[in-house]
Amino acid sequence: MSDRSNQIHQTFLNICNKIAIRAKEADRKSDSVKLTVVTKTFDADDISPILEAGHRIFGENRVQEAQSKWPDLREKYENIELHLIGPLQSNKAAEAVALFDVIETIDREKIAAAISSEMSKQDRNLRLFVQVNTGLEAQKAGIAPQETLAFVQMCKEKYGLEIAGLMCIPPFDENPGPHFALLEKLAREAGLSELSMGMSGDYETAIDFGATSVRVGSAIFGSR
Ligand SMILES: *Cc1c(COP(=O)(O)O)cnc(C)c1O
Repeated sequence: MSDRSNQIHQTFLNICNKIAIRAKEADRKSDSVKLTVVTKTFDADDISPILEAGHRIFGENRVQEAQSKWPDLREKYENIELHLIGPLQSNKAAEAVALFDVIETIDREKIAAAISSEMSKQDRNLRLFVQVNTGLEAQKAGIAPQETLAFVQMCKEKYGLEIAGLMCIPPFDENPGPHFALLEKLAREAGLSELSMGMSGDYETAIDFGATSVRVGSAIFGSR
């Protein structure tokens, strides 16, 4: 292995360890928090040491970029679970449903409709999350917190979409804790069990607030 591959392997193991320790400290089972390794901007050479270590859950934020590397990697490694964690345009819904196993960024009716129709057409059943804009930031995707319950219900009743959980990206310059707490409360009210929250800088805090899935990129690969 190259020095860089070795480095990535080590930091990956280190993050897995930290997640398990933090979960224990929060009185949770260590396997109750899954790691989504975020691979955007990193290529197959960087991703391989993590696949070789046996990890299978990955996240990408662009359909096009994911399309350019994951079909090849899927031929080499079985049981990969690929998450779309970036905004989705409805004209990319067909491609997204074909490529991803999980879409974390359902945030408007048009996308819910497009995903529902593509899943039927392609006979695929993806795990779905609704993205919540907990900070009500104008430039950020996500449904407003106060609209979340009604939106989750509409996804189910009007489009037959089973929503597994909620996802958020707190405002970058704020203490993330209150945002994670809000997401946890909304999920509880909606009867949803999964919470995708926490990134390189705040995944340990997210675990304290009940994250079932943390999305970590730069803490493993270095800065982009
Ligand atoms: C890039 C990205 C991450 C990972 O960010 P890091 O700070 O590199 O860990 C997590 N979630 C989303 C939605 C992202 O776009």
